[in-house]
Amino acid sequence: MKIGIVGCAGRMGRMLVAEVLGRDGCELAGGSELPGSEVIGKDVAAVAGFDAAGISIVDNAQAVFAAADVVVDFTLPQATIGHAQLSAANGTALVIGTTGLNADQQAAVDEAATKVTVIQAANMSVGINLLLGLTAQVAGILGDDYDIEIVEMHHRHKVDAPSGTALALGQAAADGREVDLEAVSQRVRDGHTGARRAGDIGFATLRGGDVVGDHTVMFAGEGESILLTHKAGSRAVFARGAIRAALWCKNKAPGIYSMRDVLGLA
Ligand code: NAD
Repeated sequence: MKIGIVGCAGRMGRMLVAEVLGRDGCELAGGSELPGSEVIGKDVAAVAGFDAAGISIVDNAQAVFAAADVVVDFTLPQATIGHAQLSAANGTALVIGTTGLNADQQAAVDEAATKVTVIQAANMSVGINLLLGLTAQVAGILGDDYDIEIVEMHHRHKVDAPSGTALALGQAAADGREVDLEAVSQRVRDGHTGARRAGDIGFATLRGGDVVGDHTVMFAGEGESILLTHKAGSRAVFARGAIRAALWCKNKAPGIYSMRDVLGLA
């Protein structure tokens, strides 16, 4: 499987290149970076800390889409839209790990998925995808007597909040309770907020250091609480999951798939 990496010099991009180079059945098809970046023209593998592979980083992602069977995107939402369009134009499958897409940006991805296979997940780790299933199940069993709060912590460089994973966990909890997340979501509390509204799903965001990604879903009842926690120790878990998704794409019909589909949990 020929795999291209857009945003190949980013924190996740380098991990993805490492995963492709080290995995049987994978061939590195190319890598792109933001026009003007100092890594343009440098070797994709060398930038990721490996022996040179003879493939230069380009600033035109079209070349990467043309050369690959599947492209993996961990970049920025505004870049992801362009990549979704290139994916559809070239008939190249796309794995999207980028988070923080607004409704218009998501619509561009959905449009591409009418023509090609797209796998999109706010978190590509196996553990988090299990946590999503457990959260929906526990929320459904416990009901409104237990207040749901979702707490996440990430490194100081993260630019969106709450994390895409925290929002996905909120959605799983809302699905389990069969309610509309938008109607019950409490994303910020500050000042005199009044008492907690029954049925709300709260979010709290912490940022600092080099924390890869911690998520806890709390079910706080009277006299007892249940906490479901996942801690990612290394970004490699996301890269491993993303490349597993890339390999899974082969011969799949156009459409949007989740990591739960890839892992056979859906
Ligand atoms: P980063 O800033 O280190 O890397 C992003 C890279 O994309 C940068 O190198 C940047 O130059 C590049 N880029 C931006 N626009 C581009 C363009 N038009 N063409 C090519 N390259 C472009 O960020 P990161 O920590 O690697 O995270 C990237 C994204 O992945 C974020 O949205 C983050 O939330 C998400 N993420 C998702 C998962 C998951 O499992 N789904 C895990 C970790 C991070």
